[in-house]
Amino acid sequence: MDIRFYNTLTNRVEPFEPIDSDCVRMYSCGPTVYDFAHIGNFRSFLFADLVRRTLEYFGYPVHHVMNITDVGHMTDDALADGAGEDKMAAASRRIREDKKSGKVPEGAVENPDDPYQIAQYYTDAFLEDARRLGLKVAFEYEDNILHATQNIDAMQDMIGQLIDNGHAYVGPDGVVYYSVESFADYGQLSGNTLDQLQAGAGGRVSDQDQANKRHPADFMLWKADPSHIMKWDSPWGTGYPGWHIECSCMARKRLGRDVIDIHTGGEDLIFPHHECEIAQSRGATGADAFARFWMHARFLMVEGEKMSKRRGNFWTVRDVLEGRATGRPVHPAVLRLELIKSHYRSNMNFTKKGLQDSAGIVKRLQELRTRLEDAAGQPADVGPDHPVLEAFGKALADDLNIAGAIGCVMPWASGDHPQPAESLAVLDRINSVLAVAPLAENDTAGQNAAADEPDVVSLCAAIDQARAQKDWTRSDAIRAELEAAGYDVKTTPDGTVAEKKLA
Ligand code: AMP
Ligand code: ZN
Repeated sequence: MDIRFYNTLTNRVEPFEPIDSDCVRMYSCGPTVYDFAHIGNFRSFLFADLVRRTLEYFGYPVHHVMNITDVGHMTDDALADGAGEDKMAAASRRIREDKKSGKVPEGAVENPDDPYQIAQYYTDAFLEDARRLGLKVAFEYEDNILHATQNIDAMQDMIGQLIDNGHAYVGPDGVVYYSVESFADYGQLSGNTLDQLQAGAGGRVSDQDQANKRHPADFMLWKADPSHIMKWDSPWGTGYPGWHIECSCMARKRLGRDVIDIHTGGEDLIFPHHECEIAQSRGATGADAFARFWMHARFLMVEGEKMSKRRGNFWTVRDVLEGRATGRPVHPAVLRLELIKSHYRSNMNFTKKGLQDSAGIVKRLQELRTRLEDAAGQPADVGPDHPVLEAFGKALADDLNIAGAIGCVMPWASGDHPQPAESLAVLDRINSVLAVAPLAENDTAGQNAAADEPDVVSLCAAIDQARAQKDWTRSDAIRAELEAAGYDVKTTPDGTVAEKKLA
């Protein structure tokens, strides 16, 4: 099967082949751990998980590495020069407030001035969320999820190499900067040229900055600052690394190659973060590429705006699972499916209707599993040429056409299954990618929780159909049936939505 992915580097959908046939090497930018991850963050992480699982579906072993940014992330990242407040310092202040109001529980983060305690608290929360949503790499912590703070030596080595290679310099302010003019391909990924960046920086860059940097787009690799909340000794003074260097460094260190197959992240990371990663990695290794494929997920939106911590318009994974976002608890498999089921190169809107549709799909797949296991016990052997598997794989190989892939599965899932052992094997293969029935290999607890509910999706669709035909008697009857089962039934611009009333 020819796998094709969209490559941000070339702006084209291209055939994907790994560099080494034995393994796909893949790196994903992970979370900053100064707050709970929101579902927009998880759209990006689960997109990476879908890439990985799709490649595994086609038989490629995948070595997937992710980082945890626990140092060096500024509140004003766009400048990429160490301006703004360190996010960990800001979190320290907020946690002190949250402890007073009870948002951060008693006993957690005993010392809000200790950035390691803050990072650990939110790292644990991230891993818990990630495992609940079936993010495969989260089950491989600490092998394949690496902390920036535990790789400072390797970062210093790479910074030293960049200075030796003439790509970095120590500014008059003692900061080690990457010299973007030293790297001819700077701008290749994002399309930004150095001239544009120079002109665009005009109003934002102070005379002082201009004096310290050779070019306004030069970015920080190391900043000597003995008063910083997290600091390490270095040849350039006691201080801390810039944000971008960790990914260049940990990708190379853990994946063991100068050039990797795939690098993923959310679309906001294209510039400056990934542009800077390429400049650093290629500057240090001299290779003609850092990653062959750069893949980016578009944003999860709320009312036309990016969901973000800065805008405050976000739901954490916990908010959604525990019912604070929508008024009723959501099964993790349902949230997982909702976050992967729209194409990664389209913006996605988070809506109750979307969740409800995902709940319908999860419920049907989970019920199918129960039925097949009761009838067959064990799965039979089935080859990849089974027509459903072939169609499912063909859609995924087409730049992750997940809607098409699910579209191939559902009619089959709803049909008859005269050979249940074979069907069970097909479901297992499909579920190795979707991971919703059951949710994840390592988590079987509560897998069928969603199956106890009435089929709200079909019933709401039937209401919409009856309304379209002006058959009010029928729409009222179905509405009454749902209400009797404890649902609030509402008409929305997207159609009828039924929500379980909280007890
Ligand atoms: P952060 O922890 O803020 O550094 O973000 C972690 C990941 O989430 C990065 O890959 C971001 O690009 C991604 N991200 C942030 N906001 C969104 C959003 N609204 N939708 C999709 N991905 C996002
Ligand atoms: Zn990164």
